[in-house]
Formats: sequence, structure tokens, C-alpha cells
Amino acid sequence: MNQAIRFRRRRRSAAIRDLVRETQLTTDDLILPIFVQEGISEPVTIESMPGVVRYPEDQLAQAVQNAWQLGIKAVLLFGVSENKDDTGSDTWREDGLLARMIRTAKAAAPDMLVISDNCFCEYTSHGHCGVVCDHDVDNDKTLKNLQKQVVNCARAGVDMIAPSGMMDGMIAAIRDALDSSGYSHIPVMSYSTKFASAFYGPFRDAVDSTFKGSRNTYQMDPANGREALAESLEDEAQGADLLMVKPGTAYLDVIADIRANSALPLAVYHVSGEYAMIKAAASAGVIDEQAIVLETMLAFKRAGADLIITYYATDLAHWLTPSQAD
Ligand SMILES: [Zn+2]
Repeated sequence: MNQAIRFRRRRRSAAIRDLVRETQLTTDDLILPIFVQEGISEPVTIESMPGVVRYPEDQLAQAVQNAWQLGIKAVLLFGVSENKDDTGSDTWREDGLLARMIRTAKAAAPDMLVISDNCFCEYTSHGHCGVVCDHDVDNDKTLKNLQKQVVNCARAGVDMIAPSGMMDGMIAAIRDALDSSGYSHIPVMSYSTKFASAFYGPFRDAVDSTFKGSRNTYQMDPANGREALAESLEDEAQGADLLMVKPGTAYLDVIADIRANSALPLAVYHVSGEYAMIKAAASAGVIDEQAIVLETMLAFKRAGADLIITYYATDLAHWLTPSQAD
């Protein structure tokens, strides 16, 4: 042993451990996803995701205000539509669910960063993320509709657009539509590297999806690391303001790789299955939930993520600011 090097000198007290800690996690890092369902009057619990609910529309304002009071500064809105059709046209209607959610959230907490999840799967009768032609999603027809959708969101007052459909060319199409409509100031956080993952299972529950097919023709193969980097770099080239990796836990290498190759802020989506597994293990009494969640979130940041989208945002806000815990 080299006697001069003793790592344990820097671990002798909490004070020195705090001083040399490389990675910090704060409430500023968190984005809370919120689900709103049309046609319900009480919150609906999501069986596979204890603690997460689908809110009726008239409780969205309160949910956003509660998050703001906890110190959460960004929410990501998902709608569960009753007005589905072949194309998801409700998403580009001024009085559609997406636009209404944005207006309600902004009115409830004007300083909250309101982000829209921009896709079609919760608004199409078939559940695919766009226009289906010959049993597959037609990329370019979907982009045309996405352009209408994002301009509708901008008109409703959204602060950031987050396209999740993994269509080729989606960032350029969105940027073009926003810029030519007077919204060049609205940033785009791309779901730039989104895998076709089994970890999304409970989300289908959350959005009440009747979807039975596969998204393998647009979401990425979990086996592909080089392509994962290429997808994000392509979105950066098209003008994305923030990049994302989804899911997180099984893809830390991808986070690190994108971090090493891009200067853009990078988000990670800690998805429904990752949440549900921790909840299930905690309720079985086999893990310390808080410790596991904090360790997972720190790992995302250590790997290179700047922001974390997580259903644990509310719990984390409590855990990270003890003065507000009770
Ligand atoms: Zn989708």
C-alpha cells in the first residue's frame, strides 16, 4: 500500500464528507409529471403506482399550487383524453384538453415552468404516437400535426415544449413552426433518446391506455448505445435546447455518453416502472425507500444528468428540505 494515499482521511466526519461531495441533488433539479383525466370528478388512484393519481381537471390548479409551495419549479403535463380520434386532433384545438391544462396550470402558479408532453398517443383512438398508415406511424404526416399541436400549446402559454414521439426531424419541424408563429423564445426539451422499454408498463395504467401494439418502429432498441448518442446529437443539431434520456436506471451509460458529447442540459426520465419497483420493494419491507430513491437520483446526476423528471418529485421535495417536511 502507498502510505501517502489514504482515502479515508476525507471520510472521517460528516463535515468533511459534505465538503468533498462531488454531486448535489436539490429540488431545483426536479420536474413533476402530472396526469389530468377528462370526465372524472374525483382523483383516480393508479394501482401500479401508489401515491400517483389522475386528477380531474378542476383539481389541476390545486395540484400545481401544492407543488409550487413545496419548492418544485417545473411540471410536465399529461392529458388523458375522452376525445380521441385517428389523428389526435384534440391536441391542436384551442379548447382541447392540452391547451386547457396549460392555461389552468399557468393561472394557478404563474412562475411555475409549465412543460407540455407533446405527443398523440393519449389522444389517438389506436394509441400510437401519430398518424397510422399501412400499420405504421407515418413520420412526416405526424410532424405536420405536431407543428399544429405545439403552436396551440404556445398560444395557451406553455413555457417549454417536450416532444416525446421519437419522430425523425421532429425538433426541426417544431422549431420551424414555433419560430414562424412568433414563438422563437419557447425552448424545446426533446425526448431525444427514448428507448422502447418494458419499464413503461405502469405508465400505460396511468394514462389508461388501451394500446396493445408495439412502438419499436420509432422508439429505440435498448441494445443500441451508439445510436442512442446519435439520436440526441441529431436533436441538438436540429435546435433542441435540452436533451433527455428515458428511462434512467438501466441507461446510466447512455447519460454519461451524451454528457461527454454535448454541452446541452440533459434531463433523465425516471419512469413509471422504475418508480413502481421501488414502491413495491418498499411496501414489501425489503428496502429503505428514501435512501434508495436518493441514491438513484444522485446516480443520475453523477452520470451527467442535470434534471430529473420523476414521480418522486413531491417526496423528494420533502426529503431535501426538512424544514418543510411536516
Ligand atoms: Zn406517444
